[in-house]
Amino acid sequence: MYKSKKMTCDAPVRYEVDVLVVGGGVAGCPAAIQASRLGVKTLLIEKNGMLGGTATVGAVNFPGLFHAWGKQIISGIGYDAVITANAMFSGQLPDFSKVPKNHWENQIRVDRFALAYTFDKMCIESGVEICFHTMPVSVIREDDKYTVFCADKNGIFAVSASVVIDTTGDADVVYMAGYGTETGCELQPATLMTYIEGYDIDKIDFDLLKQMCLAEYEKGTLKAGDFQSIEKPFCDELRTGQIYQHLPVEDASARSKSRLEAASRAAIARAINFLKKIPGCENIRISHFGGECGIRETRRIKGETVISAENYVSGKVYPDAVCYSFYPIDLHVSNGEYIEQVFLKPETVPTIPYSALIPQGSFRMLTAGRCLSSDRQANSACRVQATCMATGQVAGAAAYLAVKDGCGVSDVDVTELKVLLKQQGFIVP
Ligand SMILES: Cc1cc2nc3c(=O)[nH]c(=O)nc-3n(C[C@H](O)[C@H](O)[C@H](O)COP(=O)(O)OP(=O)(O)OC[C@H]3O[C@@H](n4cnc5c(N)ncnc54)[C@H](O)[C@@H]3O)c2cc1C
Repeated sequence: MYKSKKMTCDAPVRYEVDVLVVGGGVAGCPAAIQASRLGVKTLLIEKNGMLGGTATVGAVNFPGLFHAWGKQIISGIGYDAVITANAMFSGQLPDFSKVPKNHWENQIRVDRFALAYTFDKMCIESGVEICFHTMPVSVIREDDKYTVFCADKNGIFAVSASVVIDTTGDADVVYMAGYGTETGCELQPATLMTYIEGYDIDKIDFDLLKQMCLAEYEKGTLKAGDFQSIEKPFCDELRTGQIYQHLPVEDASARSKSRLEAASRAAIARAINFLKKIPGCENIRISHFGGECGIRETRRIKGETVISAENYVSGKVYPDAVCYSFYPIDLHVSNGEYIEQVFLKPETVPTIPYSALIPQGSFRMLTAGRCLSSDRQANSACRVQATCMATGQVAGAAAYLAVKDGCGVSDVDVTELKVLLKQQGFIVP
């Protein structure tokens, strides 16, 4: 029985930890590993049975960008994990010393299994306790601790933690705790990553394909968002071997996400059923697809500092800048028809301030990953995986300092944080 001044709940306190990390994606794993490596007792809870989040379960397994203008700008736990995972199978890396024509050419391809396994190993070796198939249901703050009630296969239990790091992508814990969050007036579309094989591209008549596609679209058997371009339907998909549909996202709730998961598979089924009728595609099949629909945008925290697109694009060095970020503004409009892009000028490398990871009014709760405090445009750039990994490691180190110094996360000494991160082989601005 959990009893407190504020509530009584029939839930045993199963873990008393220094740091609780909720969400084992590309931000959460470095956060937990960093905190644990520094010697604080760390628990990581994850709703799925695999670490890596969107990069593994979501099959967006090409993290970027660790390099800018021919130089490495993000290092540390995330980068080490990606390089280790990459070496497990292909070992092929872009030539980072060259500035590529397209920014995405510097992304690092990793096998999903290899990355999930590498994160397991790094967590276990650093002493992180992992609870898979577990989600938080509510959170209360009492004095200098948070009690987070969680549900797993066996029921509800409580975790008592000095610091909580929300790396759920959706800012679920920050929202539950009642700190401010915001959601855009519209949301970027979601994509269920799906890879195809078994067709002969040389036998495909793309004019016929377009005619047939438009006819099916008129009939309603194919829908807007099932394919990338109405001008050249399924052309890029067949050339790259990847079906890339765009689905509307309502919000971060389990209810709308449930509708989205089913809708994304229905969209893929419509595309495959259509493509099978095209000469050259009779034997088309799915080689692999994401275990869940990839989400680009939901909630962002209202943080102590909001990263604006203007400051991001100009490469402003914030007074509390703790890591770099590098990606163009990359805002997919909600119907998926085009992407609003703003490219960074040569030698510009944006920075991320520590205060963008702190929800306003938070005592000892931090975030990292795509829900960091930023406007929509800036978020469309700093949500990429290398930046999420960097912010995760920063949050893990800051959580350690808050525990060590017995202070709130806003009172962590940023100079000490940067020194500590540097000692861990992390690049700080
Ligand atoms: C289609 C698509 C294409 C993209 N392309 C690129 C690209 O080319 N390059 C790039 O670098 N990035 C790309 N991104 C962006 C990038 O993949 C994500 O923004 C990034 O992975 C987010 O990392 P995260 O750790 O914040 O969240 P996630 O990776 O989503 O991790 C969150 C983790 O928390 C868990 N979780 C969520 N809620 C709860 C809960 N309530 N309780 C417990 N656990 C929970 C999840 O299961 C997950 O493991 C793309 C994204 C999408 C969707």
